[in-house]
Amino acid sequence: MLEFEEALARVLAAVPAPTREIVSLSEAAGRVLAEPIRSPLDLPSFDNSAMDGYALRAADVTSAKPESPVSLCLTGKVPAGDNFAGSVTAGTCVRLFTGSPLPPGADAVVMQEETRVQPNAAGEVLILAPVRPGENVRLRAEDVKLGSTLAKPGDLLTAGRIGLLAAVGLTGVPVGRQPVVGLLATGSELQEPGQPLVPGRIYESNRIALAAFTKRAGAVPVTFPLVADVLTATSAALVEAFSRCDAIVTSGGVSVGKMDFIKQAFEQMGGELQFWKVAIKPGRPFVFGRYRGKLLFGLPGNPVSAFVTFLLLVRPALLRWQGATDVSLPVHAGVLAEPLVNHGERRHFMRVRLDPAGKVHSAGVQASHIQSSMAAANGLADVPPNTALAAGAPVPVLHWD
Ligand code: AMP
Ligand code: MG
Repeated sequence: MLEFEEALARVLAAVPAPTREIVSLSEAAGRVLAEPIRSPLDLPSFDNSAMDGYALRAADVTSAKPESPVSLCLTGKVPAGDNFAGSVTAGTCVRLFTGSPLPPGADAVVMQEETRVQPNAAGEVLILAPVRPGENVRLRAEDVKLGSTLAKPGDLLTAGRIGLLAAVGLTGVPVGRQPVVGLLATGSELQEPGQPLVPGRIYESNRIALAAFTKRAGAVPVTFPLVADVLTATSAALVEAFSRCDAIVTSGGVSVGKMDFIKQAFEQMGGELQFWKVAIKPGRPFVFGRYRGKLLFGLPGNPVSAFVTFLLLVRPALLRWQGATDVSLPVHAGVLAEPLVNHGERRHFMRVRLDPAGKVHSAGVQASHIQSSMAAANGLADVPPNTALAAGAPVPVLHWD
């Protein structure tokens, strides 16, 4: 039985190197950048006003006070989007708005609230307070310098990063190709939702949740029909899915039962089994195999075991496939609100709920067939074997949303 870290290392080592494609920026959210992006512009690309107000020379208004304002001659107006032909000379000012280019000669902007315009003297502005040179001015390149690195290969394209790339004028980005992931559910007891349950059967629920997790990991899920617990049916389903996908994620049929056919079917078609037991709970039986540069992840059928092993061992592989640097679930520091006890001999990744105050609550009953606690959880606490963690203990939470 492999330790978790060893299993993860073996999985990641088997992931093919990412291949690159260009996507439009509007389709890039959640994708992984494949090449460094350097800025083709300074940002801002010109000095501009941070306020509605007046561009002036700070030296002209050092003595300005409400009771003894400095009078400046208004020589023009620059709406945002326009450019001013002239310049600001001693004793003059120019009306600006937020984002208007700063005219040459000006070194500061006094905000409108610190000024007064007499109704009968439209060409004159009274300045009521001094400004420092540079005040209310957004300097060229203070945000981003031409040629500086905006994002590195392996970075996830978040909304914030996409906004930055758009701000420097990019329309497309090189990203890692998304693996296509076939989702199969095995089990003669499984029934598609939509019809009343046949006695003894259960609704199949793993593929739909695994498809959601797959999309969250930036990969493309393809859902295949249910597979009965029959060797020939299992083999045929694997062959079909491998012909259309980069990786296959199956659920069920990986234990030691007489009706568990995933390993056998995979080896029969020429797949190389890499390992099939990991010392974690839930999810000890977990098949990992390689087939012609493609990967097989055989998850246990119990929904909780399937979801937890997906998050711990499949999600990282799908992210790495796209070239992501950061592939583990984000870790948040929390403090236990109640004790968590692992009586077992394996590390138990327990379903927990991390609240906004950083308190960690058990998400409910921890048995691997209990789906309500999976639904209530937003994270996993990694509890070592034979360990009782007391309320108040600090615990890192592997978080998802
Ligand atoms: P198995 O790993 O095939 O032995 O399945 C373990 C348990 O999970 C059994 O109770 C199955 O009925 C259940 N199970 C297996 N596959 C699914 C599935 N796709 N959806 C819901 N429950 C499942
Ligand atoms: Mg089964």
